[in-house]
Amino acid sequence: MERTFAIIKPDAVKNGVTGQILARIEQQGFRIVAMRLQHLSRSDAAGFYHVHREKPFFGGLTDFMSSAPCVLLCLEAPDAIRAWRALMGATNPANAEPGTMRKDFGASIDNNATHGSDAPETAAFELSYFFRGMELA
Ligand code: GDP
Repeated sequence: MERTFAIIKPDAVKNGVTGQILARIEQQGFRIVAMRLQHLSRSDAAGFYHVHREKPFFGGLTDFMSSAPCVLLCLEAPDAIRAWRALMGATNPANAEPGTMRKDFGASIDNNATHGSDAPETAAFELSYFFRGMELA
């Protein structure tokens, strides 16, 4: 079993598709280990996306991520990191396959509905950034 960190981003929460995304997560066999609705501050978002701090889109990304509440998740499944990224689809919804979260619920590369860790090291950092050990027991 493997765990990954996922976010239902502010656009998806505002659009009222949280329930549909959670249903697909469960239908695909992930166990929801931890889950919290949280309105991130800009500094919460900046710390989370610190690897992108030099990128031109960083300001827009942190503004967007702190614009409204999002849903923070720890998901568990065999091969969870790869499986959740496959279910999310490509970063840009225009390039995502039909049936993926970003194709079905994302509007643009900025408003792309979901986040998922891309490697075991980032999953470990991201899970510990948002959840305490007790919540992940
Ligand atoms: P992800 O792992 O697929 O979410 O992609 P990244 O970690 O590379 O980027 C984090 C987030 O920043 C993405 O989900 C996008 O919302 C945004 N992003 C990434 N690349 C770009 C870009 O070239 N332009 C813009 N405007 N946003 C981007």
